[in-house]
Amino acid sequence: MTENGVIVVGSGPAGVAAAESFREHNSDAPVQIFTADIDLPYARPPLSKEYLRGQTDDVALHDAQWFEIRAIELVRGAAVDRLDLSDRAVYVGDQRHAFDILILACGSAPLTAPVPGGQRAQLLRSLADAAALREAAHTASSAVVIGSGFIGCEAAASLALRGMPVTLVAPEPLPQEKRLGGEAAERLRDLVTDAGARHVGGVAVEEITDAGVRLDNGVTIDCDLVLAATGVEPQSRIAADAGLQIRDSRIVVGSDMATATPGVYAAGDVALAYHEVAGRPLAIEHWQDATDQGAIAGSCAAAQHTKWDGVPGFWTSIGDATVKYHAWGDGYQRSRMLSHPDGFTVWYESEDAAVGVLTHNADDDYDLGERLIAERRPAPVPMR
Ligand SMILES: Cc1cc2nc3c(=O)[nH]c(=O)nc-3n(C[C@H](O)[C@H](O)[C@H](O)COP(=O)(O)OP(=O)(O)OC[C@H]3O[C@@H](n4cnc5c(N)ncnc54)[C@H](O)[C@@H]3O)c2cc1C
Repeated sequence: MTENGVIVVGSGPAGVAAAESFREHNSDAPVQIFTADIDLPYARPPLSKEYLRGQTDDVALHDAQWFEIRAIELVRGAAVDRLDLSDRAVYVGDQRHAFDILILACGSAPLTAPVPGGQRAQLLRSLADAAALREAAHTASSAVVIGSGFIGCEAAASLALRGMPVTLVAPEPLPQEKRLGGEAAERLRDLVTDAGARHVGGVAVEEITDAGVRLDNGVTIDCDLVLAATGVEPQSRIAADAGLQIRDSRIVVGSDMATATPGVYAAGDVALAYHEVAGRPLAIEHWQDATDQGAIAGSCAAAQHTKWDGVPGFWTSIGDATVKYHAWGDGYQRSRMLSHPDGFTVWYESEDAAVGVLTHNADDDYDLGERLIAERRPAPVPMR
């Protein structure tokens, strides 16, 4: 390696883990993180949960000293506009920064609600977004959350737990019905309503106005706070412009997080990485997997040999309930819900092998599911 060292783009979990793991294996080369974010790196999962409820302000991943000790230069408020892969440089505005190794960890950005007045709705991705949302929640008298993905469910429950009337609206009749099945979706809906939010499914938003949110069933829900949790878009534009291979808006990489261009890696939400055990690329948007992929990118960049082979998974909190999920995440043929006294397990199978498990207060099943999925063994119950 020459003196140019490593440039990481992005300070989410993938970028920070990439810089950290590179440094663990190489104490000499310069390491810089360029990030569009203005804050020190922080955890995103609490932003829709404890932070939004006002239960914590402490979401920092590391303090400034942590980066100094590791000689990782963190350059904040520095969006990389352009990559020149043949010249091996990135551009922040007109400033050229040369690299030997480039790790792209640009993550995803939230989508504005695609309706008239959509820009009136707040978004939730960054700490600055969360601070603005929490500030608005101090004075708002009622809220509408649009979109019943996990972030929408979590945020609706958190706002409701603040004591505010909240309505969660979404085109899907039940939260995540298509992704997780009807029975699981009913349970998720119950967790949202148990936290005190109202759920209105099977409706599309037609317009967001000063007065509130107008639905396609003719109803307008009056409110003075609107949050759009209507999906995210991988931030792959600079990679696409530079000619890197993109599929489904993501940067294509192997299980070592390497692109086809030597010395250029991608990890986290922006990557479409090949999974060694699944035997196919998987599009994953989970915190721990972004961290794992970043660590793999950093260690492979430092000439180590590691592969992405862990079963993807995440935890979410909707109100006071924690739901855990392990899955390849790209569909299933059959599912079976098992109720427990204070929780549930849903098993997902394809081709007689477990491909997912969703649990609430059933940690043994969550752990068992991870093993069965990794070993391509059937679910432990007959599937209907
Ligand atoms: C509110 C919320 C709650 C969540 N809760 C959970 C949860 O409970 N469990 C879970 O598993 N996952 C959760 N997630 C998802 C999880 O946070 C993401 O999967 C994870 O953050 C992805 O990490 P990443 O490093 O790939 O990208 P990100 O965390 O999105 O970080 C991307 C970084 O790149 C920077 N960037 C982008 N473009 C550029 C550029 N051109 N130049 C410089 N910098 C750039 C951004 O500023 C940012 O710093 C949640 C997400 C949100 C928003």
